[in-house]
Amino acid sequence: MFSKLAASSSLGRIALGAFLAMASMGTPAFVPAAYAAAPMHAEQAPGYYRLKVGAFEVTALSDGTLDLPADKLLSSSSEDTRNALAASHLTVPVETSFNSYLINTGERLILIDTGGGALFGSRLGNLVANMKTAGYTPDQVDDVLLTHLHPDHVGGLVKDGALVFPKAIVHADRHDSEYWLSDENKAKLGDPDGFFAGAVASLRPYIEKDRFKAFDGDTQFFSGISATTAYGHTPGSIVYAIESEGKKLLVIGDLIHVGSVQFAKPEVTIAFDTDRAEAVETRRTVFEHAAQSGAILGGAHIAFPGLGTVRANGNGFDWIPVNYSTEF
Ligand SMILES: [Zn+2]
Repeated sequence: MFSKLAASSSLGRIALGAFLAMASMGTPAFVPAAYAAAPMHAEQAPGYYRLKVGAFEVTALSDGTLDLPADKLLSSSSEDTRNALAASHLTVPVETSFNSYLINTGERLILIDTGGGALFGSRLGNLVANMKTAGYTPDQVDDVLLTHLHPDHVGGLVKDGALVFPKAIVHADRHDSEYWLSDENKAKLGDPDGFFAGAVASLRPYIEKDRFKAFDGDTQFFSGISATTAYGHTPGSIVYAIESEGKKLLVIGDLIHVGSVQFAKPEVTIAFDTDRAEAVETRRTVFEHAAQSGAILGGAHIAFPGLGTVRANGNGFDWIPVNYSTEF
């Protein structure tokens, strides 16, 4: 129907003219279908997103996505979770982002969290490839700041037992390193999800080379880069503040996992929280601060690039993703 219409239109006549000209020049009249059969690419793209925070350059890096059975993991009822997701046109399991943030201060290159590496199969472990696509190499990284020591944040530190970031010093809050690197805790609590084993396998190569430094709570690292305690999700969870020229980015790690549910209802917790009540309190405190200050948030599991601001709305918050922009 459409082709019949086109053939009788002026556009159709132009196409016919071009066809006749090609035929007279000896060009094949019909292009075999195989010529157009470019393979599809299963992976998501792009794998990085860049913005300026004052004078600092921030690059969000995707490590990949996994399907999260949110209805089974969140403290809200399965029905409430499904309804909240449905309002955002989502279903369970929810395809969930795993984001890291690379900060170039002009003097130092700092990576916040490293993704899951090889600990989660082939769907994670894309961080290094995306870092290279973004124009950086792992051996340029001066410091790795960890929001906490769960395997999807530390797994990218090593590959086949070797340091992925050979020049870097790795930093984490002492409450987390003492908790997750403890053989005693592992024996006492068991390790059904491999969280303890994952932390040890990822950190030990750096500890052995004296490249791991634990810090104690609120810490100023370098000009414009600081840690604030955000305990609850794990005993030593941290929010990192990136501040330059009056602009502020807060890299919040796992302060939130399922945005479609937990922004509106910050009281909803997830099974991975070590201390659920503390996790809720911390989430509210950080979001309230962000809503008042206008700070940009960078969330490890908010849909890539995981960057945006929050606005207070009743007992919860609205999420406003950053505007896509090529000029800063
Ligand atoms: Zn996580």
